Amino acid sequence: LTGLPALNRLVASLGRLPGVGRRSAERMAQKLIGGGDLIDELVNALQQVRDTVTGCSRCGAATSVNENPCRFCTSGVRDETLVCVVEDPADIPLIESSGGFKGRYHALMGRLAPSRGEGPASLRVASLIERVRAEGIREVLLALGTDVEGEATSSYVCERLQGLPVRISRLAYGLPAGSAVRFSDPLTLARAIKGRQPLS
Ligand SMILES: [Zn+2]
Repeated sequence: LTGLPALNRLVASLGRLPGVGRRSAERMAQKLIGGGDLIDELVNALQQVRDTVTGCSRCGAATSVNENPCRFCTSGVRDETLVCVVEDPADIPLIESSGGFKGRYHALMGRLAPSRGEGPASLRVASLIERVRAEGIREVLLALGTDVEGEATSSYVCERLQGLPVRISRLAYGLPAGSAVRFSDPLTLARAIKGRQPLS
């Protein structure tokens, strides 16, 4: 602690952001108070985002406050029977940039991480079930991580959807594009073999 309450408060706030530890928060704060126009730029950007951007009330994607539900939820050309479930709304632009998905989205806003005290209560699963019931969704595609927490989250969501008239799928495991088999780790390779695709 610095003896400067305003600075301590800034460090504490920055430390609440994902992926920012105590040390990084302190370095960010030092950079901000180091002069220059970065701090003004940040204040302006924060205010503008707070006033104009929000999370979609339906899927959680970032959207304009004037367009809620978002363009993914209201688009007439997207497949409304297919919903892709992601951990974080920040994953949505990545999936969009692949060009390979034309359904709708649902962000869980987290993952199961008991070690960090993140249990099922913080996940948006009840609203997913509600959407499956109300929106005529026929397939739920789980696009969650392949690490232990991602797998646990997938299993949990899958379990909660049991009994509903919906097909549950997940992203295929595979090798990263442009990489050679010899650079793959054994687990990735084992999963890629299990998920092999027929060529003829
Ligand atoms: Zn939406």
